[in-house]
Amino acid sequence: MPELPETETIARDLHAEVAGAVIASAVVRRADVLRPAAFRRGAGPAAFAARLAGAGIEGVWRRAKQVVLDLDSGDRLVAQPRFTGALVLVAAAGVAADAPLPTGQHDAVGRADDPFTCVTLHLADGRALAYRDVRRLGTLSLLDASGWTTADVALGPEPLDAAFTPARLSAILRGSRQVVKAVLMDQRRIAGVGNIYATEACWRAGLDPSREARRVAADDAAVARLHEGLVGVLRESIAARGTTFRDFRDAYGGRGGFAARLQAYGRAGAPCARCGRRLVGTHAVDGRMTVFCPGCQA
Ligand SMILES: [Zn+2]
Repeated sequence: MPELPETETIARDLHAEVAGAVIASAVVRRADVLRPAAFRRGAGPAAFAARLAGAGIEGVWRRAKQVVLDLDSGDRLVAQPRFTGALVLVAAAGVAADAPLPTGQHDAVGRADDPFTCVTLHLADGRALAYRDVRRLGTLSLLDASGWTTADVALGPEPLDAAFTPARLSAILRGSRQVVKAVLMDQRRIAGVGNIYATEACWRAGLDPSREARRVAADDAAVARLHEGLVGVLRESIAARGTTFRDFRDAYGGRGGFAARLQAYGRAGAPCARCGRRLVGTHAVDGRMTVFCPGCQA
């Protein structure tokens, strides 16, 4: 599932490509990804498309694990890719299907005849922006200003914001009896962190992911290491264009470069890079696969 660095990569690429572009028309092929639910049945998809037609894209940015398109109509189009969703830029009509996309890597993903395309935004300049989703568990929301505010306030702070200090992290952890890894992944408390980066942050901090959050908060040195580990791994992954473990593709259909630098996630049974002990994979921490080192994470 795309987490903060993968979503940031998509948003930055798309901003560079489509900020200032105008949506000429929208075509809905799979309405079950649309939110609010009123857009999913009957005249809903037509109303969704009609509200997008003619709108200019002012900018593209990220909030939590969502890609947000600010439209000059005052609406925001919010893509939450979840498991297999992706926003991909499709080359202008008339460009051969096997020609390279304008920049970056590419593969079959994002071509106009892609069968997994749910919604296509045809841009006035001839290009298209497609939301594709193999399993269709992601969502595409069209929100007015108040709908956006409601969605935004339900999310926790952004961990790469200057206001997200060790003191802020400590305050978030202080009130919780949950395991620290679960708090890191709770979108209402901290935005954008999922299983990959929560696992990596705990490894970097030398912190047992099953430690109770409020006990971590009582240990200033542990909080400082966790803050440094979390912010560091997110920044480094953004610099590498994110992690492609299975499904993540960037806006050009390319793969992220950070997977080779993961130290814990996906490495159960391999030796710990810090102490050499064999990393353990377990579902006992929070119901998700958690990998940690029994030698140096305490
Ligand atoms: Zn170790």
